[in-house]
Amino acid sequence: MFVAIEDVCFSYSNAKTKALDNFTLKIEKGEVISILGRSGSGKSTVLRLLAGLEKPEKGRLVIQDEVLFDNKTFLQPEKRGIGMVFQDYALFPHLTVAENILFGLFRMKKSNKKKRLKEVLELVELQDFEKRYPHQLSGGQQQRVAIARAVAPNPHLILLDEPFSNLDAELQGKIREELRDILKKANITSIFVTHDEKDAHILADRIVRLKDGRIDFIGRPCDMLDTY
Ligand code: ADP
Ligand code: ADP
Repeated sequence: MFVAIEDVCFSYSNAKTKALDNFTLKIEKGEVISILGRSGSGKSTVLRLLAGLEKPEKGRLVIQDEVLFDNKTFLQPEKRGIGMVFQDYALFPHLTVAENILFGLFRMKKSNKKKRLKEVLELVELQDFEKRYPHQLSGGQQQRVAIARAVAPNPHLILLDEPFSNLDAELQGKIREELRDILKKANITSIFVTHDEKDAHILADRIVRLKDGRIDFIGRPCDMLDTY
């Protein structure tokens, strides 16, 4: 299994109930997983634990045979090979598109950087935009830059937290389909969090639905319809 999240429990320090209660999820290489659920159901917590921003109380996290967390191990966030895309894109406003993407490639050899920049710009179809600044791009274009930046260092896994929530409805529809194409074309394993069922249905190979920190449904989008 490419990604394994096993029996993970987590509570925030000032909370009475568990944010995640025995959460288990196995993900294949290249799978697109959507985590669906109401506000407060624990969606962001799954991403925070994988990214290493919080430490589970118990359980095990493994990506491609590397243990990120178990009772003996806690791998630092920067060593996890995980890319992230947040709802506000968080591009650097004073850097161009190319500079934003190159920022994440500081470990790569100089000769490889240019090639990789070109590849990811092609992947998100922004070849002609590399010299622009974020404020000179539409919301959808900015979102694609954020995706390109996350993908550029070839992470094992991409985490996306409500990636469409700041876009207007029309753009959301377009970006949804673009994102699926981008992820599939590059065979990128990804987990994206949403409270919007439409996002999950269109984008995901499998949906994990959370309720109060527990898995309420897990399966293909077409099988979820029967569970209401
Ligand atoms: P989302 O929009 O993803 O549902 P939330 O509104 O739940 O996010 O949370 C926004 C931020 O507030 C997050 O950083 C989260 O960690 C924090 N947060 C959420 N709930 C609480 C809480 N009960 N106490 C303190 N911080 C919280
Ligand atoms: P979601 O992403 O589905 O909105 P979260 O994972 O942010 O849910 O939150 C799960 C639970 O943990 C909620 O009850 C939320 O209020 C609580 N929570 C989230 N962040 C914090 C925090 N920083 N401190 C305390 N409680 C939090």
